[in-house]
Amino acid sequence: MIACTNCETAQFLQITQSRVYFEDGEMINEISETYECTLCGATGQYVYDDDRDEETVTGEVEHTTERPKYA
Ligand SMILES: [Zn+2]
Repeated sequence: MIACTNCETAQFLQITQSRVYFEDGEMINEISETYECTLCGATGQYVYDDDRDEETVTGEVEHTTERPKYA
């Protein structure tokens, strides 16, 4: 999951932009999501590359495997 590095929670994050890139008109090749924290205003981007099975996180968000603190 994606969490705000300032607030250390994903509770206030919202996706402001989401794009899915296709290859050969059918396969999902890359997913790009832009996040904004509604609490502190931080922004960041999450990109998943299906070809390399690689996740990239930039900006003021972080990728965490922790379970949500607030379900
Ligand atoms: Zn925040």
